[in-house]
Amino acid sequence: MTTFSLIDGFNRPITYLRVSVTDKCNLRCIYCMPEGGLPWLRRDEILSYEEIVEIVHAAASVGVRTVRLTGGEPLVRRNLMRLVEAIAGVPGIEDIALSTNGLLLEEQLAGLVAAGLRRINLSLDTLREERFAEIARRPGLGTVLRAIDAAIAAGLAPLKINCVVMRGKNDDEVADFAQLTRERPVFVRFIEVMPVHENVGLQRDTYVASDEILERISAIGELLPVGGPRGNGPARYFAFSDALGAVGVITPLSHDYCERCNRVRLTADGRLRLCLFGDHALDLRSPLRSGATTEELANLLRSAMLIKPERHHLRLGEAASAMRAFSEIGG
Ligand code: SAM
Ligand code: SF4
Repeated sequence: MTTFSLIDGFNRPITYLRVSVTDKCNLRCIYCMPEGGLPWLRRDEILSYEEIVEIVHAAASVGVRTVRLTGGEPLVRRNLMRLVEAIAGVPGIEDIALSTNGLLLEEQLAGLVAAGLRRINLSLDTLREERFAEIARRPGLGTVLRAIDAAIAAGLAPLKINCVVMRGKNDDEVADFAQLTRERPVFVRFIEVMPVHENVGLQRDTYVASDEILERISAIGELLPVGGPRGNGPARYFAFSDALGAVGVITPLSHDYCERCNRVRLTADGRLRLCLFGDHALDLRSPLRSGATTEELANLLRSAMLIKPERHHLRLGEAASAMRAFSEIGG
């Protein structure tokens, strides 16, 4: 296989593809989705597994090495392990990861691991059941905690736990989350709330900067900067000297996050999004459904590099201009 690197106009090699397999979710986190859900995509608008695999083939042929499956909630889509298995068989793909809220993980874990899944990011914003129901608007903390232990037992280490920190909602639990890194081999990553069109008010009112998060954790023990796990992406990591894992902060509103950007995103309806925020996107579904070859798709990916922006221009309290930017965040 000939390998051409995908390099954008700012000399950043693009090696990481996030694939949203569905826009649907079994939770309604207050910072992410309205309580009543979204105007969901129709079934025929969503890429089939076969179509996703074709795009992954093209992406791998130009240097993409890591694929992360995300959503919505990826585990609500039937037989996700079939997709994992197919992607694992694509020449050039070295690493398949999953972002999940964990609710359906325990029951699917063995099949996913057998299919080739190697890494999981699990979202968890509180360790208190009543708050879980307030933040995710559905119950389920016990199920998610069991999924964390099952994933560790299945060898999916390092397990990353993503926690969106909101003032007045869960910021008083930051130290409890950090404590988890002393008890389990987990990387807890604190994420600043990002503005999306539904949540601008929430984002402005509850935003906690990463420096404050680290200060609060330092109150229960000295934190030392450490390297992150494989595929550490945009986080900066710190650990207690007696910890099994580490804590990290992800600061999407800061621009050094953009400087290290190595990723593009495929939406559930087949658009290649070049930046988490903003309107830079390229439709891949139409050419795919009109019979584009792998090479033609690869050329489209290369041409998309011309429209990948240097950075996003979001600031605190501003809405993302693109609809549903949030369904492709972090993870
Ligand atoms: N449903 C899966 C989950 O929750 O992990 C995967 C998709 S979810 C959109 C991916 C990540 O984005 C989660 O860690 C979630 O907490 C984070 N996220 C969603 N909306 C966000 C926002 N407005 N600000 C910061 N992080 C957000
Ligand atoms: Fe669903 Fe994940 Fe969004 Fe929560 S953050 S509503 S779990 S997609």
